[in-house]
Amino acid sequence: MTDFEATRAMFDLPEGMIYLDGNSLGPLPRAAAARVAACVTEEWGGMLVTGWNRAGWMEMPRRLGDRIGRLIGAEPGTVVLGDTLSIKVFQALAAACEMRPGRRVILSDSGNFPSDLYMAEGICRMLGDRELRLVAPEEVEGAITDEVAAVMVTEVDYRTGRRHDMAAITRRAHEAGALAIWDLAHSAGALPVRVADEGADFAVGCTYKYLNSGPGGPAFIYVAPLHGERAVPALSGWLGHAAPFAFDLAYRPGRGVERMRVGTPPVIQMAALDAALDVWDSVDLVRLRTRSLELTDLFIAEVETRCPELALATPREHERRGSQVSFRHPEGYPIMQALIARGVIGDFRAPDILRFGFTPLYIGPEEVVRAAAILSEVMEGRLWDREDYRQRAAVT
Ligand SMILES: *Cc1c(COP(=O)(O)O)cnc(C)c1O
Repeated sequence: MTDFEATRAMFDLPEGMIYLDGNSLGPLPRAAAARVAACVTEEWGGMLVTGWNRAGWMEMPRRLGDRIGRLIGAEPGTVVLGDTLSIKVFQALAAACEMRPGRRVILSDSGNFPSDLYMAEGICRMLGDRELRLVAPEEVEGAITDEVAAVMVTEVDYRTGRRHDMAAITRRAHEAGALAIWDLAHSAGALPVRVADEGADFAVGCTYKYLNSGPGGPAFIYVAPLHGERAVPALSGWLGHAAPFAFDLAYRPGRGVERMRVGTPPVIQMAALDAALDVWDSVDLVRLRTRSLELTDLFIAEVETRCPELALATPREHERRGSQVSFRHPEGYPIMQALIARGVIGDFRAPDILRFGFTPLYIGPEEVVRAAAILSEVMEGRLWDREDYRQRAAVT
Protein backbone atom coordinates (compact mmCIF):
# COMPACT_ATOMS: atom_id res chain seq x y z
CA MET A 1 0.00 0.00 0.00
CA THR A 2 1.50 3.27 -1.06
CA ASP A 3 0.80 6.35 1.02
CA PHE A 4 0.46 9.15 -1.52
CA GLU A 5 0.15 11.80 1.20
CA ALA A 6 3.57 10.69 2.41
CA THR A 7 5.13 10.76 -1.05
CA ARG A 8 3.67 14.21 -1.72
CA ALA A 9 5.38 15.50 1.43
CA MET A 10 8.70 14.39 -0.06
CA PHE A 11 8.50 17.04 -2.81
CA ASP A 12 9.12 20.72 -2.68
CA LEU A 13 6.34 22.23 -4.82
CA PRO A 14 5.59 25.95 -4.93
CA GLU A 15 2.50 26.90 -2.93
CA GLY A 16 -0.64 27.15 -5.05
CA MET A 17 0.88 25.62 -8.17
CA ILE A 18 -0.77 22.62 -9.84
CA TYR A 19 2.15 20.89 -11.49
CA LEU A 20 1.05 18.73 -14.40
CA ASP A 21 4.39 18.62 -16.18
CA GLY A 22 6.29 15.95 -14.28
CA ASN A 23 6.38 14.08 -17.59
CA SER A 24 8.75 16.75 -18.87
CA LEU A 25 10.68 17.74 -15.75
CA GLY A 26 9.97 16.14 -12.38
CA PRO A 27 9.86 18.48 -9.35
CA LEU A 28 12.53 18.76 -6.67
CA PRO A 29 12.50 15.96 -4.09
CA ARG A 30 13.15 17.66 -0.74
CA ALA A 31 16.04 15.35 0.09
CA ALA A 32 17.82 16.10 -3.20
CA ALA A 33 18.85 19.63 -2.25
CA ALA A 34 20.69 18.47 0.87
CA ARG A 35 22.17 15.46 -0.94
CA VAL A 36 23.54 17.62 -3.73
CA ALA A 37 24.91 20.13 -1.22
CA ALA A 38 26.69 17.32 0.63
CA CYS A 39 28.06 15.93 -2.61
CA VAL A 40 29.42 19.35 -3.53
CA THR A 41 30.87 20.47 -0.21
CA GLU A 42 31.83 17.24 1.56
CA GLU A 43 32.70 15.02 -1.38
CA TRP A 44 33.95 17.33 -4.13
CA GLY A 45 35.13 20.02 -1.72
CA GLY A 46 36.53 17.74 0.98
CA MET A 47 37.74 14.72 -0.94
CA LEU A 48 38.61 16.16 -4.32
CA VAL A 49 39.87 13.49 -6.68
CA THR A 50 39.85 10.82 -3.96
CA GLY A 51 36.03 11.02 -4.12
CA TRP A 52 36.09 8.69 -7.11
CA ASN A 53 37.08 5.91 -4.73
CA ARG A 54 36.13 7.14 -1.26
CA ALA A 55 32.68 8.44 -2.13
CA GLY A 56 31.96 5.66 -4.61
CA TRP A 57 31.48 8.02 -7.56
CA MET A 58 32.80 5.51 -10.09
CA GLU A 59 30.26 2.86 -9.03
CA MET A 60 27.29 5.21 -9.12
CA PRO A 61 26.27 4.51 -12.74
CA ARG A 62 25.90 0.81 -11.92
CA ARG A 63 24.51 1.18 -8.40
CA LEU A 64 21.83 3.63 -9.52
CA GLY A 65 21.27 1.46 -12.58
CA ASP A 66 20.19 -1.34 -10.26
CA ARG A 67 17.83 0.99 -8.42
CA ILE A 68 16.19 1.95 -11.73
CA GLY A 69 16.29 -1.69 -12.81
CA ARG A 70 13.82 -2.49 -10.06
CA LEU A 71 11.38 0.04 -11.53
CA ILE A 72 11.58 -1.35 -15.05
CA GLY A 73 11.70 -5.05 -14.22
CA ALA A 74 15.34 -5.57 -15.18
CA GLU A 75 17.68 -8.22 -13.82
CA PRO A 76 20.38 -6.96 -11.40
CA GLY A 77 23.47 -5.68 -13.20
CA THR A 78 21.76 -4.99 -16.54
CA VAL A 79 21.19 -1.22 -16.31
CA VAL A 80 23.75 1.55 -16.30
CA LEU A 81 23.46 5.35 -16.07
CA GLY A 82 25.14 8.11 -18.00
CA ASP A 83 24.98 10.56 -20.91
CA THR A 84 21.68 11.72 -22.34
CA LEU A 85 18.84 9.65 -23.71
CA SER A 86 19.69 10.58 -27.30
CA ILE A 87 23.19 9.14 -26.77
CA LYS A 88 21.78 5.97 -25.23
CA VAL A 89 19.39 5.55 -28.18
CA PHE A 90 22.44 5.72 -30.42
CA GLN A 91 24.33 3.17 -28.32
CA ALA A 92 21.48 0.67 -28.35
CA LEU A 93 20.63 1.08 -32.01
CA ALA A 94 24.19 0.95 -33.30
CA ALA A 95 24.85 -2.21 -31.27
CA ALA A 96 21.62 -3.78 -32.53
CA CYS A 97 22.50 -3.01 -36.16
CA GLU A 98 25.88 -4.65 -35.73
CA MET A 99 24.18 -7.73 -34.28
CA ARG A 100 21.94 -8.04 -37.35
CA PRO A 101 24.24 -7.65 -40.35
CA GLY A 102 22.54 -7.97 -43.70
CA ARG A 103 19.21 -6.64 -42.49
CA ARG A 104 18.63 -3.24 -44.01
CA VAL A 105 15.77 -1.77 -42.05
CA ILE A 106 15.44 0.05 -38.76
CA LEU A 107 11.70 0.18 -38.08
CA SER A 108 10.05 2.91 -36.04
CA ASP A 109 6.82 4.88 -36.03
CA SER A 110 5.78 8.40 -36.90
CA GLY A 111 4.78 9.07 -33.27
CA ASN A 112 8.31 8.54 -32.01
CA PHE A 113 10.28 11.38 -30.49
CA PRO A 114 12.29 13.20 -33.17
CA SER A 115 15.65 12.80 -31.45
CA ASP A 116 15.28 9.01 -31.52
CA LEU A 117 14.56 9.19 -35.25
CA TYR A 118 17.41 11.64 -35.90
CA MET A 119 19.79 9.26 -34.17
CA ALA A 120 18.56 6.44 -36.39
CA GLU A 121 19.02 8.60 -39.49
CA GLY A 122 22.56 9.39 -38.39
CA ILE A 123 23.35 5.70 -37.99
CA CYS A 124 21.88 4.96 -41.43
CA ARG A 125 24.04 7.69 -43.00
CA MET A 126 27.12 6.38 -41.23
CA LEU A 127 26.58 2.73 -42.10
CA GLY A 128 25.45 3.49 -45.65
CA ASP A 129 23.53 0.24 -46.11
CA ARG A 130 20.58 0.82 -43.76
CA GLU A 131 17.31 2.66 -44.01
CA LEU A 132 14.95 4.05 -41.40
CA ARG A 133 11.39 2.96 -42.18
CA LEU A 134 8.57 4.82 -40.48
CA VAL A 135 5.02 3.54 -40.24
CA ALA A 136 1.95 4.73 -38.34
CA PRO A 137 2.04 3.65 -34.66
CA GLU A 138 -0.76 1.10 -35.12
CA GLU A 139 1.07 -0.46 -38.07
CA VAL A 140 4.34 -1.31 -36.33
CA GLU A 141 3.54 -4.93 -35.55
CA GLY A 142 2.43 -5.68 -39.10
CA ALA A 143 5.49 -4.02 -40.61
CA ILE A 144 8.04 -6.28 -38.92
CA THR A 145 9.49 -8.35 -41.75
CA ASP A 146 12.69 -10.34 -42.17
CA GLU A 147 14.37 -7.21 -43.55
CA VAL A 148 14.16 -5.56 -40.14
CA ALA A 149 17.28 -5.47 -38.00
CA ALA A 150 15.74 -3.58 -35.11
CA VAL A 151 12.35 -2.26 -34.08
CA MET A 152 12.91 0.95 -32.16
CA VAL A 153 9.82 2.37 -30.52
CA THR A 154 8.89 4.54 -27.58
CA GLU A 155 6.37 2.74 -25.42
CA VAL A 156 4.33 5.84 -24.58
CA ASP A 157 3.92 8.56 -27.22
CA TYR A 158 5.24 11.88 -25.87
CA ARG A 159 2.47 13.84 -27.57
CA THR A 160 -0.70 11.79 -27.28
CA GLY A 161 0.11 9.42 -24.43
CA ARG A 162 -0.78 6.43 -26.63
CA ARG A 163 0.87 3.27 -25.37
CA HIS A 164 2.29 0.46 -27.48
CA ASP A 165 1.81 -3.20 -26.60
CA MET A 166 5.35 -4.00 -25.57
CA ALA A 167 4.82 -7.74 -25.20
CA ALA A 168 3.16 -8.16 -28.61
CA ILE A 169 5.65 -6.04 -30.57
CA THR A 170 8.64 -7.66 -28.88
CA ARG A 171 7.25 -11.13 -29.58
CA ARG A 172 6.63 -10.29 -33.22
CA ALA A 173 10.12 -8.78 -33.57
CA HIS A 174 11.69 -11.96 -32.25
CA GLU A 175 9.58 -14.18 -34.50
CA ALA A 176 10.95 -12.21 -37.45
CA GLY A 177 14.52 -12.42 -36.15
CA ALA A 178 14.70 -8.70 -35.29
CA LEU A 179 15.78 -7.03 -32.08
CA ALA A 180 13.45 -4.86 -29.98
CA ILE A 181 14.65 -1.56 -28.56
CA TRP A 182 12.27 0.17 -26.17
CA ASP A 183 12.43 3.82 -25.23
CA LEU A 184 10.95 4.14 -21.76
CA ALA A 185 11.17 7.94 -21.47
CA HIS A 186 7.46 8.17 -20.61
CA SER A 187 7.20 4.77 -18.92
CA ALA A 188 9.89 4.55 -16.24
CA GLY A 189 8.25 5.82 -13.07
CA ALA A 190 4.92 6.24 -14.87
CA LEU A 191 3.71 2.63 -14.98
CA PRO A 192 5.01 -0.87 -14.24
CA VAL A 193 7.49 -2.01 -16.90
CA ARG A 194 8.81 -5.55 -17.23
CA VAL A 195 11.72 -5.48 -19.65
CA ALA A 196 13.04 -8.89 -18.63
CA ASP A 197 9.69 -10.72 -18.65
CA GLU A 198 8.70 -9.21 -21.97
CA GLY A 199 12.02 -9.98 -23.58
CA ALA A 200 13.20 -6.49 -24.55
CA ASP A 201 16.67 -6.68 -26.09
CA PHE A 202 17.58 -3.10 -25.23
CA ALA A 203 15.78 -0.39 -23.31
CA VAL A 204 16.66 3.23 -22.71
CA GLY A 205 15.08 6.09 -20.83
CA CYS A 206 15.62 9.36 -19.05
CA THR A 207 15.57 10.16 -15.36
CA TYR A 208 14.56 13.83 -15.33
CA LYS A 209 10.93 13.12 -16.27
CA TYR A 210 8.95 10.78 -13.98
CA LEU A 211 12.04 9.82 -11.96
CA ASN A 212 12.72 13.41 -10.83
CA SER A 213 16.52 13.65 -11.13
CA GLY A 214 16.45 17.33 -12.16
CA PRO A 215 17.23 19.17 -15.40
CA GLY A 216 19.92 17.37 -17.37
CA GLY A 217 19.85 14.23 -15.20
CA PRO A 218 21.58 11.22 -16.81
CA ALA A 219 19.85 8.61 -18.98
CA PHE A 220 19.83 4.84 -18.47
CA ILE A 221 20.35 1.88 -20.75
CA TYR A 222 19.34 -1.76 -20.29
CA VAL A 223 20.95 -4.61 -22.20
CA ALA A 224 19.35 -8.05 -21.89
CA PRO A 225 21.76 -10.51 -20.21
CA LEU A 226 21.61 -12.67 -23.33
CA HIS A 227 23.31 -9.88 -25.29
CA GLY A 228 25.56 -8.56 -22.55
CA GLU A 229 28.75 -10.02 -24.01
CA ARG A 230 27.71 -9.64 -27.66
CA ALA A 231 26.46 -6.09 -27.98
CA VAL A 232 29.41 -3.93 -29.03
CA PRO A 233 29.13 -0.21 -28.32
CA ALA A 234 29.78 2.13 -31.25
CA LEU A 235 30.55 4.92 -28.79
CA SER A 236 33.42 2.96 -27.30
CA GLY A 237 34.61 5.25 -24.55
CA TRP A 238 37.26 4.57 -21.96
CA LEU A 239 34.80 3.97 -19.13
CA GLY A 240 33.15 1.21 -21.15
CA HIS A 241 36.55 -0.47 -21.50
CA ALA A 242 37.21 -3.70 -19.60
CA ALA A 243 40.07 -2.02 -17.69
CA PRO A 244 39.87 1.78 -17.98
CA PHE A 245 42.86 2.37 -15.75
CA ALA A 246 45.10 0.03 -17.71
CA PHE A 247 45.03 2.75 -20.40
CA ASP A 248 45.43 0.15 -23.15
CA LEU A 249 45.78 1.53 -26.64
CA ALA A 250 43.31 -1.05 -27.93
CA TYR A 251 39.65 -1.10 -26.98
CA ARG A 252 38.25 -4.12 -25.16
CA PRO A 253 34.60 -3.88 -24.12
CA GLY A 254 33.77 -4.17 -20.42
CA ARG A 255 31.51 -6.78 -18.89
CA GLY A 256 27.83 -6.73 -19.81
CA VAL A 257 26.05 -3.41 -19.72
CA GLU A 258 29.15 -1.69 -18.26
CA ARG A 259 30.47 -1.47 -21.81
CA MET A 260 27.67 0.94 -22.68
CA ARG A 261 29.25 3.56 -20.44
CA VAL A 262 31.10 6.23 -22.41
CA GLY A 263 32.92 8.88 -20.39
CA THR A 264 33.07 10.52 -16.98
CA PRO A 265 29.70 10.29 -15.25
CA PRO A 266 27.85 13.41 -13.99
CA VAL A 267 28.40 12.87 -10.27
CA ILE A 268 26.48 15.85 -8.90
CA GLN A 269 23.47 15.08 -11.05
CA MET A 270 23.61 11.45 -9.96
CA ALA A 271 23.60 12.56 -6.31
CA ALA A 272 20.27 14.27 -7.04
CA LEU A 273 19.00 11.12 -8.73
CA ASP A 274 20.07 8.94 -5.81
CA ALA A 275 17.99 11.08 -3.44
CA ALA A 276 15.08 11.12 -5.92
CA LEU A 277 15.11 7.32 -6.09
CA ASP A 278 14.66 7.11 -2.31
CA VAL A 279 11.08 8.26 -2.85
CA TRP A 280 10.45 5.13 -4.94
CA ASP A 281 11.50 2.75 -2.15
CA SER A 282 8.02 3.05 -0.64
CA VAL A 283 6.08 2.97 -3.90
CA ASP A 284 4.15 0.00 -5.23
CA LEU A 285 4.07 0.47 -9.00
CA VAL A 286 0.81 -1.43 -9.43
CA ARG A 287 -0.86 0.88 -6.95
CA LEU A 288 0.75 3.87 -8.68
CA ARG A 289 -0.69 2.74 -12.00
CA THR A 290 -4.19 2.32 -10.55
CA ARG A 291 -4.04 5.81 -9.11
CA SER A 292 -2.62 7.27 -12.33
CA LEU A 293 -5.52 5.79 -14.33
CA GLU A 294 -8.00 7.20 -11.80
CA LEU A 295 -6.45 10.65 -12.19
CA THR A 296 -6.31 10.56 -16.00
CA ASP A 297 -9.89 9.21 -16.21
CA LEU A 298 -11.05 11.97 -13.91
CA PHE A 299 -9.31 14.68 -15.91
CA ILE A 300 -10.73 13.39 -19.19
CA ALA A 301 -14.26 13.30 -17.72
CA GLU A 302 -14.00 16.78 -16.17
CA VAL A 303 -12.54 18.43 -19.26
CA GLU A 304 -14.92 16.73 -21.70
CA THR A 305 -17.89 17.88 -19.62
CA ARG A 306 -16.70 21.44 -19.23
CA CYS A 307 -14.72 22.14 -22.43
CA PRO A 308 -16.47 20.61 -25.46
CA GLU A 309 -14.19 22.52 -27.88
CA LEU A 310 -11.13 20.53 -26.78
CA ALA A 311 -10.60 17.22 -28.61
CA LEU A 312 -9.15 14.31 -26.69
CA ALA A 313 -5.93 13.02 -28.30
CA THR A 314 -5.24 10.29 -25.72
CA PRO A 315 -6.72 6.79 -26.05
CA ARG A 316 -9.58 6.07 -23.66
CA GLU A 317 -8.67 2.42 -23.14
CA HIS A 318 -6.52 2.01 -20.04
CA GLU A 319 -4.20 -0.48 -21.68
CA ARG A 320 -3.41 1.94 -24.48
CA ARG A 321 -2.63 4.95 -22.30
CA GLY A 322 0.42 6.18 -20.41
CA SER A 323 0.22 8.64 -17.51
CA GLN A 324 -0.63 11.79 -19.44
CA VAL A 325 -3.67 13.31 -21.08
CA SER A 326 -3.52 15.45 -24.21
CA PHE A 327 -6.13 17.56 -25.90
CA ARG A 328 -6.00 19.22 -29.30
CA HIS A 329 -7.01 22.78 -30.06
CA PRO A 330 -5.78 25.08 -32.86
CA GLU A 331 -5.07 27.76 -30.21
CA GLY A 332 -3.27 25.28 -27.95
CA TYR A 333 -0.24 27.48 -27.39
CA PRO A 334 -1.96 30.59 -26.00
CA ILE A 335 -4.41 28.39 -24.05
CA MET A 336 -1.48 26.73 -22.30
CA GLN A 337 0.13 30.11 -21.55
CA ALA A 338 -3.13 31.31 -20.00
CA LEU A 339 -3.20 28.19 -17.83
CA ILE A 340 0.40 28.60 -16.76
CA ALA A 341 -0.33 32.23 -15.81
CA ARG A 342 -3.04 30.82 -13.50
CA GLY A 343 -0.75 28.30 -11.82
CA VAL A 344 -1.68 25.20 -13.82
CA ILE A 345 1.54 23.99 -15.39
CA GLY A 346 1.27 21.75 -18.42
CA ASP A 347 2.98 22.18 -21.76
CA PHE A 348 2.37 22.50 -25.47
CA ARG A 349 3.59 20.23 -28.25
CA ALA A 350 3.34 21.38 -31.84
CA PRO A 351 1.20 21.59 -33.77
CA ASP A 352 -1.85 21.70 -31.48
CA ILE A 353 -1.38 19.55 -28.37
CA LEU A 354 -2.08 20.65 -24.81
CA ARG A 355 -0.28 18.10 -22.66
CA PHE A 356 -0.91 17.29 -18.99
CA GLY A 357 1.11 14.75 -17.00
CA PHE A 358 -0.39 13.00 -13.97
CA THR A 359 2.04 11.85 -11.35
CA PRO A 360 0.37 10.25 -8.32
CA LEU A 361 3.44 10.82 -6.15
CA TYR A 362 2.40 14.45 -5.71
CA ILE A 363 -0.85 15.00 -7.65
CA GLY A 364 -4.26 13.98 -6.29
CA PRO A 365 -7.91 14.21 -7.39
CA GLU A 366 -8.42 17.69 -5.87
CA GLU A 367 -5.74 19.17 -8.12
CA VAL A 368 -7.20 17.37 -11.13
CA VAL A 369 -10.65 18.87 -10.56
CA ARG A 370 -9.22 22.33 -9.85
CA ALA A 371 -7.06 22.23 -12.99
CA ALA A 372 -10.08 21.29 -15.12
CA ALA A 373 -12.12 24.11 -13.56
CA ILE A 374 -9.39 26.66 -14.34
CA LEU A 375 -9.12 25.30 -17.88
CA SER A 376 -12.87 25.72 -18.35
CA GLU A 377 -12.68 29.36 -17.13
CA VAL A 378 -9.91 30.01 -19.64
CA MET A 379 -11.95 28.46 -22.45
CA GLU A 380 -15.34 29.99 -21.62
CA GLY A 381 -13.97 33.49 -21.11
CA ARG A 382 -11.52 33.21 -24.04
CA LEU A 383 -8.92 34.34 -21.51
CA TRP A 384 -6.22 32.90 -23.77
CA ASP A 385 -6.96 35.40 -26.55
CA ARG A 386 -4.16 37.85 -25.81
CA GLU A 387 -1.16 38.87 -27.86
CA ASP A 388 1.36 38.17 -25.07
CA TYR A 389 0.16 34.56 -24.76
CA ARG A 390 0.94 34.04 -28.44
CA GLN A 391 4.62 34.93 -28.10
CA ARG A 392 6.47 31.62 -28.43
CA ALA A 393 9.22 30.98 -25.90
CA ALA A 394 12.27 28.84 -26.79
CA VAL A 395 10.93 25.93 -24.73
CA THR A 396 7.23 25.25 -25.16
C1 LIG B 1 12.39 13.28 -23.52
C2 LIG B 1 12.76 12.37 -24.64
C3 LIG B 1 14.03 12.42 -25.24
C4 LIG B 1 15.02 13.46 -24.84
O1 LIG B 1 16.34 13.05 -25.07
P1 LIG B 1 17.56 13.78 -24.34
O2 LIG B 1 18.75 13.28 -25.02
O3 LIG B 1 17.49 13.43 -22.89
O4 LIG B 1 17.37 15.26 -24.52
C5 LIG B 1 14.32 11.47 -26.21
N1 LIG B 1 13.41 10.54 -26.59
C6 LIG B 1 12.17 10.48 -26.03
C7 LIG B 1 11.21 9.43 -26.47
C8 LIG B 1 11.81 11.40 -25.06
O5 LIG B 1 10.58 11.37 -24.54
